[in-house]
Amino acid sequence: MKKGRVFSGARPTGKQHIGNYLGAIQNYVKLQQDYDCIYCIVDVHALTTLEDTHMLKANTHDMMLDWLAAGLDPQKSILFVQSHVPEVMELHTLLSMVTPLGWLLRVTTFKEKVKMQPHNVNYGLVGYPVLMTADIVLYKADIVPVGEDQLPHLELAREIVRRFNNIFGETFPEPQAKLTNFPMVLGLDGEKKMSKSLDNHIELAASPEETTRRIMGAFTDPARKFRNDPGHPEVCNVYSLHHFYTYLKLEEIGKQCRAAEIGCVECKRMLADNINKALAPFREKRAQLAEKYVDEVLADGARRAHAIARETMKEVREKMGLP
Ligand code: ADP
Repeated sequence: MKKGRVFSGARPTGKQHIGNYLGAIQNYVKLQQDYDCIYCIVDVHALTTLEDTHMLKANTHDMMLDWLAAGLDPQKSILFVQSHVPEVMELHTLLSMVTPLGWLLRVTTFKEKVKMQPHNVNYGLVGYPVLMTADIVLYKADIVPVGEDQLPHLELAREIVRRFNNIFGETFPEPQAKLTNFPMVLGLDGEKKMSKSLDNHIELAASPEETTRRIMGAFTDPARKFRNDPGHPEVCNVYSLHHFYTYLKLEEIGKQCRAAEIGCVECKRMLADNINKALAPFREKRAQLAEKYVDEVLADGARRAHAIARETMKEVREKMGLP
């Protein structure tokens, strides 16, 4: 007997990075044991920024390869593409009728997007959190594994659900966020969250050489200018990644850094080696997955997701009084 239902989605931005893995994917994998899990590549969300749309297919494929190699199992989870189950667009429209515009205009990510693309402040952009709510509640998910950056969206999803349930009667569970112990992985610049669009990331599928090259270029403690300066691991980006990849030696590295017994170059080399070691099985598995297999997984996922979506929409239409 499973404990409940899990849903999460990610935009098809291409190959996944270690921020995605540490912040979200590792939970996707773990939750498969005890929950009914549904994981979705949200291609319609990607259209809100209308860049690189010709890459959507290739990016979707790359992302699914990463998810499968990281341990998502189509026998245990439903893995599918958002636009393959068009009921989500219908639910988005219906939920938009109970969502006050003021709630959406206040969302920080919307304000950021307006600044980033003033030439393209489209209707879909402001409705992004409503579509995300539709994604989650179409499958009546209880738990949503995400990184910290998604928490405001999830809070809004809960508000929309509460409003819908108040007006039309108890229909959807209020979804709860599930964070990993690494909910906000900093990028190699040490300033912003790790993100592909900021090019401060390490792809899970990168070669060992590329991984090492990127780590060697990472920013560390800004106060440590010379090899003999004592370091401050608590503010160092590289040290924060050691938490995950070198946890057994973490205290030792911290002490050595504070006492200037190891330099940043040595510390980074150790991190690069450990990341490469940790990712070797993933990289090997990914290289063995066939193109055709991914297509089969997605077709089967869409079929299974569709069956649930149809049921929910039947109930929603009835509750909303649609003739
Ligand atoms: P990106 O920011 O690279 O475009 P997405 O927005 O598609 O990635 O995020 C996919 C999932 O990975 C989300 O659950 C998100 O919260 C999580 N995530 C993304 N970047 C990070 C990060 N740097 N640290 C922790 N979690 C992250």
